[in-house]
Amino acid sequence: MRVFKFGGASVRNADAIRKVATIIKSYTDQPLLVVVSAIGKTTNALEQLLSLKNQPFEKELDEIINYHFQIVDGLFGHHHELTQELTGIKSHISALLKKHLSNTDELYDQIVSQGEIIATRIVSTYLITIGLPALWIDARKYITTDSTFREAKVDWDQSIIQIQSLAGVLDENIIVTQGFIGSAQDGLTTTLGREGSDFSAAIFASCLRAESVTIWKDVPGVMSADPKRLPTAIIFEELPFKEAAEMTYYGATVIHPKTIKPLANRNIPLFVKSFDNIDLPGTRIHECKVNDLPPLIVFKDNQCLISCQVTDYTFIDESQIGIIFNALSARSLKVNLIQNSAISFSFCLDFKEEKVLALIEELGKNFEVYYNTDLTLITIKNYDTETFNKYKGQKDVVIEQSSRSTLQVLIKS
Ligand code: ASP
Ligand code: MG
Repeated sequence: MRVFKFGGASVRNADAIRKVATIIKSYTDQPLLVVVSAIGKTTNALEQLLSLKNQPFEKELDEIINYHFQIVDGLFGHHHELTQELTGIKSHISALLKKHLSNTDELYDQIVSQGEIIATRIVSTYLITIGLPALWIDARKYITTDSTFREAKVDWDQSIIQIQSLAGVLDENIIVTQGFIGSAQDGLTTTLGREGSDFSAAIFASCLRAESVTIWKDVPGVMSADPKRLPTAIIFEELPFKEAAEMTYYGATVIHPKTIKPLANRNIPLFVKSFDNIDLPGTRIHECKVNDLPPLIVFKDNQCLISCQVTDYTFIDESQIGIIFNALSARSLKVNLIQNSAISFSFCLDFKEEKVLALIEELGKNFEVYYNTDLTLITIKNYDTETFNKYKGQKDVVIEQSSRSTLQVLIKS
């Protein structure tokens, strides 16, 4: 069987959904499970809704629902029964927002997950309308997680049993399910981290021992750099799992970082293919050896550099580094670059404002803390002389580090 994943951009309007259906239709020679994420920028819009805190939210909520109404109208004509379902979801979101006055991660997951529920209801209903044997299933009944809301950890032992029960269903049906969401033991909805639908696809594929996973994207494949920043970027025909995993680690957003491991462990190839031009070969990520990979350049914006200095001329030692890492780990913050000297320890991380400011406050109890924001981390893997010279010694460099294969430069954005 195969697993397909369609992201928000590939279902952004009625035409795009028709195209998704055409793609699915041309792959019915084998059982298929389709993972769909929220439509267009719905997840951002739902986050926006939550950020309104206790202010009126009706207008913003209406906009989100109306956007989906338009798509329903475009696909099925007016007054389709899905309209009623959407109105029900709208009331559900509204009730949640009114009931929970504090804006917790738990509330976030209950609300933001509705984007994927709506998207999959629309897509599966459309597939049925055009005569495909689609079956909507609720991913929350299959992917069980812990209760770390917004960043839930998968309970693999339980999920595998639940997901494997779908094997028979796949003989008769094209399963359509949500990415990004799961549920905790107590039944509350959890989410797996932003852009986590790729990971969901990998979870289903791994548990069902799929033949392959295909992520359909608005790019022609995995590229050596973001073509918007570097028009000379090239498309990789194939990439080893390890290379792909490292790219995502350094911040390449083409695939979610957690996607590779479950697939590599079961040796399930991952295809990244163009949604706009399905005849393009795309990229095959699998167990392979590729000689002479060209330099791979990853830009990661919105970085923050934090420097912790000891105030009394003691040196930075293991116990102080321990304090810093415990504080990071307590907030699930991941470090992207480290540099230390005798009296200072600096590290760069994604500027998740609320969490990072809390971290800085905490570290202030033990250190003199300085920080800079609006930085970009550029990582060049497998550099050659030309790229090395191009990126090294740029102006506005804050930190520069190189190993035999990788150069990292932190610059002012
Ligand atoms: N809709 C979710 C997000 O935008 C999950 C995903 O797209 O993968 O983060
Ligand atoms: Mg999305």
